[in-house]
Amino acid sequence: MVKKRVELINGDITSLDVDAIVNAANNSLLGGGGVDGAIHNAAGPDLLTECESLNGCQTGQSKITSGYRLKAKHIVHTVGPIWYGGYRDEPELLASCYQTSLAIAKEKKIKTIAFPGISTGIYGFPKELAALIAVNETKRFLNKNNYPEKVIFVTFSNESYETYRKLLDS
Ligand code: ADP
Repeated sequence: MVKKRVELINGDITSLDVDAIVNAANNSLLGGGGVDGAIHNAAGPDLLTECESLNGCQTGQSKITSGYRLKAKHIVHTVGPIWYGGYRDEPELLASCYQTSLAIAKEKKIKTIAFPGISTGIYGFPKELAALIAVNETKRFLNKNNYPEKVIFVTFSNESYETYRKLLDS
């Protein structure tokens, strides 16, 4: 059952012992603020060296690197859309972030992957709509695929945790 393959944690994604964590990266893949900065800090400088070789990443697309000093073996870098009011395909681009990250996990036979709330910080995507897209796209993917075995949503506030809790319970 798909429900058993989805988990929710409130906390710091950089501390998780999972096969892969997802980074809310930007088009350059060269680091930034928010969770991106936290991941680069925790993974160490070799992450930036590998990212420099990737030639950036388009919005809605994803690329994988090693996890370096993280407990997580891999980092899937996905580039969420900046929210401009919803008229620039932001929902479709956010859905694509989840689809392409999960497709990489499937291809690499990653068992457990953890997602932060892509685009919901500096990029300003409305949190409830973002959570709905995250949960829907993930359930849709898990319904059709055996990998990843488990998806963990990682929130960074009690409010976001409750938003996901309600969606996952319904
Ligand atoms: P974006 O630029 O895609 O909006 P941000 O990093 O600004 O990315 O924020 C994305 C989400 O990640 C936000 O909801 C933010 O609260 C959350 N976040 C920030 N740091 C962490 C962390 N260490 N672990 C988990 N989530 C985090």
